[in-house]
Amino acid sequence: MDCLFCKIISGEIPSKKVYEDEQVYAFYDIAPMAPVHVLIVPKVHIASVNEVTSENSAVIAHIYEVAAKLAKELGIAENGYRVITNCGADAGQTVFHLHFHLLGGKKLRVEMC
Ligand code: 5GP
Ligand code: ZN
Repeated sequence: MDCLFCKIISGEIPSKKVYEDEQVYAFYDIAPMAPVHVLIVPKVHIASVNEVTSENSAVIAHIYEVAAKLAKELGIAENGYRVITNCGADAGQTVFHLHFHLLGGKKLRVEMC
């Protein structure tokens, strides 16, 4: 499958790994929008939130567990952070493999849209 994040997960395309287990892979965003900007992705290919079903949604709960763990390890848990998923064109999704942006390390803009 011609998917950038599948290639990053498999190691075909290099990345700066932050965390990995049997279900998820986390790595630093190549164009960080905050002092801490990590992408957390399921290893299974899910194109977007539109493709989430009762069959594959368990990994998303696990991703939030990983987000909480990484936020503590990266030192942003206390001051706060944002976990964002863009879905589709209007939200600006550019990579069609579900991913969660973990953003922190500064006071983030309040605007959500
Ligand atoms: P989206 O816009 O789809 O929500 O987020 C895609 C993110 O992937 C962007 O923040 C972008 O900087 C990041 N990205 C795109 N290509 C690469 C890459 O090759 N390596 C890494 N580490 N991040 C990437
Ligand atoms: Zn993929």
